[in-house]
Amino acid sequence: MKTKSRIYEMGGVITEADGDYCTLRLRLPAGIVTPDQLIAVGQIAQKYNIDNVHLTTRQTIEIPHIKVIQLEEVSRELLASGHDIGAERAEVVNITACPGTDRCKLANIDSLRLAKEIDKRYFRKDMPGKMRIAISACPNACTSETLNEIGITGLRNPIRENGTCTGCGTCVQFCRENAIEVRDGRIVMDKKLCLECGTCVRSCLYGLLQSETAAYRITFGGRRGRHPKVGMHLITVNSEEAVLLVVDAIIDWIYRFARLDVPIVSQIGKDLNFEEFKANLPKKLPPGSVVAA
Ligand code: SF4
Ligand code: SF4
Ligand code: SF4
Repeated sequence: MKTKSRIYEMGGVITEADGDYCTLRLRLPAGIVTPDQLIAVGQIAQKYNIDNVHLTTRQTIEIPHIKVIQLEEVSRELLASGHDIGAERAEVVNITACPGTDRCKLANIDSLRLAKEIDKRYFRKDMPGKMRIAISACPNACTSETLNEIGITGLRNPIRENGTCTGCGTCVQFCRENAIEVRDGRIVMDKKLCLECGTCVRSCLYGLLQSETAAYRITFGGRRGRHPKVGMHLITVNSEEAVLLVVDAIIDWIYRFARLDVPIVSQIGKDLNFEEFKANLPKKLPPGSVVAA
């Protein structure tokens, strides 16, 4: 009984429609799972006659239809196999991230490393409500990061270098936003149309389009669900270190000021003064970290 209540405290137990059964949700930051962990899930599911597992929208695995009387035993086996359980109640829930520079040729940032680092810092931290964090390594937004309480997007701002542009038009072809034109044999960029995806930088064979270090645009206040909302731009910074400091500041702000009985996003403009927080945020970062929006 003692172990069972500890399992419930880990936040990954979901009671099913038939109250004799429950679902266990695993904690898998960025959906990364080792072959051994996958095998273990399969073997445990088979042992308890569970004929399927569910891959969730937050990149984790749920093991459904566990008899409540076997919950303690199943949980113990999962923990022994190197899994962790959690991420369903009011806490920082499973961090989602796209593959990023690990394997996507469009990526501007190492989203997997960042996801693991954020998870390491906030694993099972109690919060006043669910805190969802998602990371996409470019504006293609494969994780729909702006629909999370905290969204992080990797950017690359193209800068025209000195040199002889051949006017070949390759970068124009690659830009899906029509933000580049060739006029009189030279490129002209329209920054208002540019999403800072960085594709043109990678396309120019002559290296005439360059970029400063990648940037991280951070949004706050997005959500999915019944009343979806796109998060508001909070800050754009130029290092992973600064991103982690921004996430630290947001978690601290929410933990201290948000009420327990209301979804976090609904408190913006009431208990949570977004504009004041946004204005004071740069003071918490190393000089030179903030990129002009
Ligand atoms: S968000 Fe961009 S970098 Fe990440 S997987 Fe999608 S296309 Fe690749
Ligand atoms: S960064 Fe992307 S959107 Fe901006 S000009 Fe280059 S290709 Fe176009
Ligand atoms: S910037 Fe590079 S890719 Fe674009 S037109 Fe000039 S030479 Fe071609």
